[in-house]
This record gives sequence, structure tokens and C-alpha cells, in this order.
Amino acid sequence: MNFTRPHEECGVFGVYNHPEASNLTYLGLYALQHRGQESCGIVSSDGTSLHAHKRMGLVADVFGNQEVFKKLPGKSAIGHVRYSTAGASVEKNVQPIMVDYSRGSIAVAHNGNLVNAQLLKAELEAYGSIFQTTMDTEIIIHLLAISHTNSLVDRIVDALNRIKGAYCLLFLTETRMIAVRDPNGFRPLCLGRLGDAWVVASESCALDLIEAEFVREIEPGEMIVCTKDGNLKSLFPFKKVEPTPCIFEFVYFARPDSYIFGKNVYLARKELGRQLAREHGVDADIVIPVPDSGVPAAMGYAEESGISFEMGLIRNHYVGRTFIEPAQAIRHFGVKIKLNPVREILKGKRVVVIDDSIVRGTTSRKIVKMVRNAGAKEVHMRISSPPTSYPCYYGIDTPNRKELISSSHTLSEICRYITADSLGYLSEEGLVNSVGLENTGFCKACFAGTYPVAFPKPVLKPQMGLFGEEYSENE
Ligand code: AMP
Repeated sequence: MNFTRPHEECGVFGVYNHPEASNLTYLGLYALQHRGQESCGIVSSDGTSLHAHKRMGLVADVFGNQEVFKKLPGKSAIGHVRYSTAGASVEKNVQPIMVDYSRGSIAVAHNGNLVNAQLLKAELEAYGSIFQTTMDTEIIIHLLAISHTNSLVDRIVDALNRIKGAYCLLFLTETRMIAVRDPNGFRPLCLGRLGDAWVVASESCALDLIEAEFVREIEPGEMIVCTKDGNLKSLFPFKKVEPTPCIFEFVYFARPDSYIFGKNVYLARKELGRQLAREHGVDADIVIPVPDSGVPAAMGYAEESGISFEMGLIRNHYVGRTFIEPAQAIRHFGVKIKLNPVREILKGKRVVVIDDSIVRGTTSRKIVKMVRNAGAKEVHMRISSPPTSYPCYYGIDTPNRKELISSSHTLSEICRYITADSLGYLSEEGLVNSVGLENTGFCKACFAGTYPVAFPKPVLKPQMGLFGEEYSENE
């Protein structure tokens, strides 16, 4: 994949006050691997100084050697898994970022994407700041280092009051761990307890692995400060806004065993499938998912429609998510590497294929062909989300608008392109109602084009593509 927008899909995990802090963080990152596969890192604190180990590569590769943990002593640690887009795929950009500043050392791990990063960076550089990475996250460090306030908490608040966009942040100093979720609550973040330790994770599946008790989700706009006395302070230092958690976390990104935004992801996806069956029923013999992300929705579709569920495509679990492949050529090849049809199941059948989304359409096209080549008589594509027509600026990796097939093609054109007999997308209303959270708005920017946090006017060169695309901006 060769996107040029510098934004990131990531996962964060932190442990405060546990003798095995870095080992537990390693396990937590393992459970969050689906949120980013390019690089990972852990910074630990032994109470007087910070220690880091971070590299390009998967968690198991970077932390597969027990020797590494000798370099990560202490009772607190934060970790990060990252998949970033092109231009930033280098060792120096691996998180957590760790720096020494006038008040000591600090490390930060970030999930999300700032929309005014370029403006702030230009401003900071004009005042003499020198950046070592190309990550948004470093801007936060610079802002807190130059803050005129006194305490660390005030410095962080001061810095975050200047940034706009999506962030779940974990800060670690010699003595404290601080977690912050942005006021819109775009990305999930939860709090757990393990004996006397506090644990913070992007998704609850990471708490399950280390057998930490799920305490609650960290609220939009909340800052949690863990201090030496074992206490936890909760603050709401930002201007309150209507929360807009990312609905695409439910559609695709989060793990189905996670509980996010007050709901289990698996059940939510199953409900999307049921609703999809109600909206786009079809006479067919079998329902098959595009594994893994299409599985719960396909089960829901099968239950609602009464058509039997089969695993007509088998996934090789040693291959990462298709999008994670760095080059277009590999990604195209990737569908075949990842999926293989079960001919005996598909032969002569009218097949409903369920996937979570169509982005460029290349995956669906290959899958439809694969299912048909395996002998299917008819192939009906059903998608458990509305057409993805707009790029995400809040931390989900989507290509620019031109590459999103539904931004410029009608339903029947897309159907023709993917060579399906029919195509149906879940409606926006169906999606929101199925996820069914009372009193909560969602960010549906990728489907609706309405962006809950407005971004500044173009500041980048057009070829960088960040804000050079069409979008509807609701200031
Ligand atoms: P495409 O070939 O571009 O249409 O890609 C569609 C496939 O990518 C679907 O099977 C989705 O499960 C998957 N997908 C959708 N959004 C993302 C994303 N942000 N990161 C990785 N994979 C994605």
C-alpha cells in the first residue's frame, strides 16, 4: 500500500505498579497486534529512569527473546503497536517516543491522528523546535516541553488544548503513568485492574489476556493519572463536546472479543449481518464470510435469512491483514496468499459472500472471481457497512478519495467492477441502529463525509495529499 497521508492505525497498552510490568505490556501488545503490524515498542520505568526497546516488526519478533526484558526493568511500562502509512515507515518513528526535557524524562504512546499537526509543526519549527521524527506525536512532546505551566498534568493539558483530532495517549515518567482520551472519544481506551496494578489498553481483549479485571472505559475527554501512592485520579480538563466514537471500529477495526464504546464488537457485527439480511435478502444456497472480519456479520445474515452458513473461504492465519502489505503489487497477490476457496462447498451453489467493507474494490473483485472459479453458480456480494466514500482523518488508514471506489462509482458500476451477480451495502441508518448505542453519536465521516473535528485549510503541498482532496467540512 502506498498511501501518502501520514496517519496511523495503532494500539496502546500500559501497566502501572506491577513487578512484571514490561512482560505484561508485551502480552498486551500481542493481543493488540491487529491494530498495527509495522513496528512496536515498550518503555519501562524503574522509578528513577526510563528504559526503551522498540523496533520495526511484529510483537513476537521484537520481544521474542527474554533477554530483551532485562533491559526493561521496573514496575511501570507503556507499549505501542503501529501501522503507519508511507513516508513514515522508518525506525526513528517507532513508538513510544522517549525524550529528556527540562523536568526529567517522558515517554508517550499515541493512537489516533491529529488534524492540525502540520500547522503546529510549522509554528514550532519557526520558533526553533527541531523534530527528530515525522510523527504527529512528537508535536505533543514539544508543546508540553515549552508550556509555561508548572505541573506535568498542566503541561499535558496545555499541550492537548492546542491539538485537534483523535488521540488516545499514554504518558510515562519516572514516577507516573497518565492516560488521556480525546474529547470526541474517537478511539477506544479502557481501564483495568490486576492486583495492585492499573492497566490501560486500547481494547479490552488485551486485559483479558493478562487476566486483568475490566474496570471501565476511559471516558471521552478524561485524563487518568496513576501516582506512586497507588491512587488513580480522574480529571476532565477539556471543553466538553458531543462524543463521536468511530463506528468503523465496530465494522472492521476492533477485535470481535473486545468490548468498546459500551458494547461487545462480535454481537454488534452479528447484528449488522442480521440487518443486512433484512435490507438485502436474496435467494441463495449458502452464506459465506470473507474471513476473519466478515465472520460475525455472515453468521447474523445466515441466522436472519435462514440460509446455511459455510466457511467457503479458508484463511491462512499466518498472513497479516491485506492492507498491511506495503506495496500495491504484494497486496494484489495478497488476496490469494490469504484466502483459498473450498471447492466442494461452493460448487454449483448460489453464494452470498459477506465482507465488512469495500475500499478500492480490488479485494472484492478477486474474491468474487475466486468463488466463481471454484464453481459457484451465482455470487452475491453483501457488505456490512455503507459505501466508504470519504477518507478518515482520525486514525483509520483509508486511501485518498480518488482511490475509494464508491466516491466515484454507482452501486451498479461497482457491482459490475467486482463482477458480482448482485451487490448490497448496509444502509447508514441500519448501521447506526444495529450498533444501537443510546445517547451516543458516532463519527461516520468515512461513510457520510461529515467530519466532527474540523481541520485547518490546506497547509501541505498538494502532492502530499493530506488535505488536497475534496471533502465536506462541517466547521
Ligand atoms: P479493497 O480491496 O481496497 O476494497 O479492500 C477491502 C478489504 O480491506 C475488506 O476486506 C476489508 O476487510 C479490508 N479493510 C477495510 N478497511 C481497512 C483498513 N482501514 N485497514 C485494513 N484493511 C481494511
